[in-house]
Amino acid sequence: MCMPSPRRCCWWATRHEPPVSHVLAVDVGGSKLAVALVDGTGRVVRAQRAPTPQGPRASAEPIWDALDDLVTALVADGADGDREITGVGIGCGGPMAWPLGDVSPLNIPGWRDFPLRTRMAERFPDVPVRLHNDAVCLAVGEHWRGAGRGRRDMLGMVVSTGVGGGLILDGHLVDGADGNAGHIGHVVVDPDGPSCACGGQGCLEAVASGPMLTRWAQQQGWRPPSSGGEAVTARDIADDARRGHPVALAAMQRAGRALGIAIASATHLLNLEVVSIGGGLSQAGPLLFGPLEDALRRYARLSFAQSVRVVPATLGQDAGLVGAAGLVLAADTYWNPLPGDGER
Ligand SMILES: [Zn+2]
Repeated sequence: MCMPSPRRCCWWATRHEPPVSHVLAVDVGGSKLAVALVDGTGRVVRAQRAPTPQGPRASAEPIWDALDDLVTALVADGADGDREITGVGIGCGGPMAWPLGDVSPLNIPGWRDFPLRTRMAERFPDVPVRLHNDAVCLAVGEHWRGAGRGRRDMLGMVVSTGVGGGLILDGHLVDGADGNAGHIGHVVVDPDGPSCACGGQGCLEAVASGPMLTRWAQQQGWRPPSSGGEAVTARDIADDARRGHPVALAAMQRAGRALGIAIASATHLLNLEVVSIGGGLSQAGPLLFGPLEDALRRYARLSFAQSVRVVPATLGQDAGLVGAAGLVLAADTYWNPLPGDGER
């Protein structure tokens, strides 16, 4: 009797059925590496994650080896039949030389001008290999298959250890002069505000990123209930805010207000319909979105700006992977090839 696994029983089936086509999606972050097989509809068929090497192993080649091992394990696992990789999409933290794909992620010190796109193209020499900023990939994922589906004008944002974004205008991804459009984290929300890692002052990221939010709360006298020497995160603040701690509540309100101000400015500039927010801090829910909405309604006064909707990202932790795959699978919308962009 023929069992459900054709690989084990119906040998002729695996010999005669065409291989299943997938795009390999890669999401490189400072704390974790993620890889996935994504089908033609943007569905994540299978994903695997591993910690980004830290400490002594956090130099260039060990980080690449960890990523390469993850890719090998994912592609070699033939549990659901033979497959064909038809392209590779990569999201990675910036800054980067785009579209060349040499990356220098702020949160991965071991990679400086690391030729990630080139290395992956050597690994998969016969298919397109494309790379973009990880926040841009989240925006693409949310526009293609998430909260911005069917909308023409959208800002996708990540609010996490940093604040990033990507723009879809007139239904297409906007790259900017050298791939950096959408950096809303460095829009100024308070000219007299805290210094930013970029060298500026009062940037959105300097107020609303997880680490800066935590720093401000501690400066105001907040202490986590049981720090025990462990790293304090914005999640601790959100937990305390839920319990009514006044400084934690003020910290969340301050971050939400800064986000609302920045989104109001972006909406006036770009006539946005929807803003989708992902990243760890977006999971704080009304603690963040409440003050965000208040500030947005306070500062977005022109009638066209009042109709913008701000929503949590709907694809969760898969948004970046889906978007990376979209660079290949929905290239007409999300990949704008330039002469000499290095594609084979
Ligand atoms: Zn900045």
